[in-house]
Amino acid sequence: MKRTALFLDFDGTLAPIHSHPDDVRLSPERENLLIDLSSKIPTIVLSGRSLPDLRKRLPVQALAGISGDHGASRFFRGRIHVPTGAQSVRPVVRRLGEALKETFLSWGGVYVEEKEYSVSVHFRNLDPDHTDAFRKILLGIVLPDIDRCSLIESKGKCVWEYRPPGLNKEDAFTWYLEEMNRGSESKDGFRPVMIGDDTTDWETVKRSVRMGGEGYWVGESLPEFDASITGLLRSPDDVWAYLEGLYLSV
Ligand SMILES: [Mg+2]
Repeated sequence: MKRTALFLDFDGTLAPIHSHPDDVRLSPERENLLIDLSSKIPTIVLSGRSLPDLRKRLPVQALAGISGDHGASRFFRGRIHVPTGAQSVRPVVRRLGEALKETFLSWGGVYVEEKEYSVSVHFRNLDPDHTDAFRKILLGIVLPDIDRCSLIESKGKCVWEYRPPGLNKEDAFTWYLEEMNRGSESKDGFRPVMIGDDTTDWETVKRSVRMGGEGYWVGESLPEFDASITGLLRSPDDVWAYLEGLYLSV
């Protein structure tokens, strides 16, 4: 029989979206449940945050893996794996992060998160009257890199993300499964369960279902109609109720 492997997004899935990303923490009870759960089911967190940031918020040693920067950095079995496409784009990411930080320094409500292999520009706290001006200035800075295809842009919930092309959560998801199958004594392999809430999770949720596993979407409705999706979980509280049930069932 196939063993389950659990894949979880972090912000909006395990923790509610917070206006200040740095303030997000799991409660000790939830952290303990995650530790107990991953002792039974290999658990991997796939996040847009950087690995150093995730280490502050998750029981890293208890997890089977954590991937940061939308799949561009991957911690697995005590080692960090970085695909070549991410390494080469590092100077571009650093330059862009610095330029954005300097530009939006005096903007209340805009927070530039410089990471190892990607940059996030959060605008949750921005005055809605300033949204158009913000977007115009942002595009002026990022477009040359997007035109050169050195970075791609994607939009999350009140955040613009800039990351290396061809690296994403769904590829990290497949990579983890392949690595785990390679290291497994059983020939049956793993049956994935993926839970996520943002546009960058959607392909992974669908891929998990297509691979014979389960895929759950966190939110009020799916981003596009797809009858194959296993189910909706309305909030991080519902995700934790599901995880508790999963823990008790194995
Ligand atoms: Mg999320």
